[in-house]
Amino acid sequence: ALMFLAPACKRDSTEAKGPEAPPAGGAASGVKIALLLPESKTARYETHDRPHFERKVKELCANCEILYSNADQDASKQQNQAEAALTNGAKVLVLDPVDSASAAAIVTRARQSKVPVLSYERLILNADVDYYISFDNEKVGKLQAQALLDKLKADGKGSGSIVIINGSPTDNNAKLFKAGAHSVLDGSGLQVGAEYDTPDWSPDKAQQQMEQAITSLGKDKIVGVYAANDGTAGGAIAAMKAAGVSPLPPVTGQDAELAAIQRILSGEQFMTVYKAIKAEGEIAAEVAVALARGNPLPPGRVNGKVNNGAKDVPSILLPAQVVTKDNVKSTVVADGFWTTAQICEGS
Ligand code: BGC
Repeated sequence: ALMFLAPACKRDSTEAKGPEAPPAGGAASGVKIALLLPESKTARYETHDRPHFERKVKELCANCEILYSNADQDASKQQNQAEAALTNGAKVLVLDPVDSASAAAIVTRARQSKVPVLSYERLILNADVDYYISFDNEKVGKLQAQALLDKLKADGKGSGSIVIINGSPTDNNAKLFKAGAHSVLDGSGLQVGAEYDTPDWSPDKAQQQMEQAITSLGKDKIVGVYAANDGTAGGAIAAMKAAGVSPLPPVTGQDAELAAIQRILSGEQFMTVYKAIKAEGEIAAEVAVALARGNPLPPGRVNGKVNNGAKDVPSILLPAQVVTKDNVKSTVVADGFWTTAQICEGS
């Protein structure tokens, strides 16, 4: 492991600086902006989305106050949190839904109070949402699957058995990742030995699913694992290590989580998808402040539209890219998403 870590962990003076700490102290009570995130088991929300959003709101609006809540993967808890934010006078909801379908009720409720809704990261279906900010999520699934397929072909394993571990069935993104992945993998020559959806995107459940796959397929028969994000990848890798699978087959992921970047450098995980989460948080802040003040968005901000079943939602879609051992430095490190010090800590 150290052999792989060594070059990436060498400090160099041109390295970008890490994200700045949010300013201390609260702003005076004023315009209220609600940020409703879906869960905290996946590291991105508390380490990237929330701080970047909050810092940008404070920068743009001295008298804005953020009402933050995290639903811990519980859709009815999120419903209550949204309700509370509206009761507290929120002027805009930035909502990353636990359940893309049932969150439509939150939008209906917000509409009654004439409060606009920004669908953050996950699309809220069949609802009159104002804007959507995310990525081309079907493409994210394609990027993961194509990277896995190319790797397996290069290793002469293009007709082996893979395990597919998808995300939460209540998350519209998980459906898109799955569709994108299948569009590449189906008919590719690879066999799907086992496939699971992972309730709540739970890494523990992903681990149990992988244990089950190893039991039914045999520990030496799995040539690759498509895991939809880094949390599920971590669960799958833990199951394989516990079962004595060696060498580990290539495993995909998503989010460029710190633990995943470390596994990529040590050779335990093959790839992740690095999404522009910092930009997502910052632009969402800009949109939220504009909506809360009743202002239009800056021209050119919206760069697409995505149909949610009820309407074509004006959308802001951001870039995503594959990260493997070869480009950790030129991507996540160069951007300051993670510093080498953070990556190398504990190595
Ligand atoms: C996001 C992923 C995240 C997953 C689990 C998805 O909607 O697109 O980045 O890993 O949810 O929270």
